[in-house]
Amino acid sequence: MIDNKRCAAVVLAAGRGKRMGADRPKQFLELAGKPVICYCLDTMENSLIDEIVLVTGEEEIAFCRDEIVGRYGYRKVTKIIPGGAERYHSVALGLRAVENCDYVFIHDGARPFVDAAMLTRLADAVKIHGSAVAAMPVKDTVKIADKNAFAVETPERSSLWQMQTPQTFAYGPIREAYEKLLEDEAAGGAGAVTDDAQVMERYGSLPVKLVEGSYRNMKITTPEDLKIAEALLS
Ligand code: C5P
Repeated sequence: MIDNKRCAAVVLAAGRGKRMGADRPKQFLELAGKPVICYCLDTMENSLIDEIVLVTGEEEIAFCRDEIVGRYGYRKVTKIIPGGAERYHSVALGLRAVENCDYVFIHDGARPFVDAAMLTRLADAVKIHGSAVAAMPVKDTVKIADKNAFAVETPERSSLWQMQTPQTFAYGPIREAYEKLLEDEAAGGAGAVTDDAQVMERYGSLPVKLVEGSYRNMKITTPEDLKIAEALLS
């Protein structure tokens, strides 16, 4: 709860994780003795979040029910539902499955290092702005390149942020924005969408507030990331 308002989380675990090259999706690989997905669920279970909808692959639903939610006893996970082909399909399905909430925290299950302080910073900001997402200033210079990998432009570094999750919104406005995205896609108009803030920017009306995430809040994507995450935990 935030000030008597109900908070839900949509935790995304329906990616195939092809860049990991492992036999199971990255969010279910073992990290220091338990599956990657458990770290964010542990944090959320003991937080201001009231309800968690876990979105996963059709073929991982039984595994999630028995080996994740059952085994580790996550009482806040109310639904485990199948996701879609792209991340934004999985988010849209997760938002539809949420029962009754005022704010929703959308989180990549492949990011184990979300912490309670980050959830509180997001909660404080979403109360004011209705739209608040975890992000950090980029440390490297970033180039825009052409399709042959020649640099064409250098955006000013001081205005660049790398986006993370959780991305937190008032429920009605983000649900509406995602429904518009799906309508646009059905009409052949939607382009690539890689985060929820982009959906709000394009189809919603709330300005997106960037809130301090953390440089630890990495997404496990490649085998090196798993080693880095192990080092951070040790
Ligand atoms: O592929 P990417 O690294 O952007 O995935 C970010 C998160 O979204 C991961 O936790 C992944 O499991 C999830 N995802 C999903 N459904 C998809 C693709 C990705 O739930 N179709």
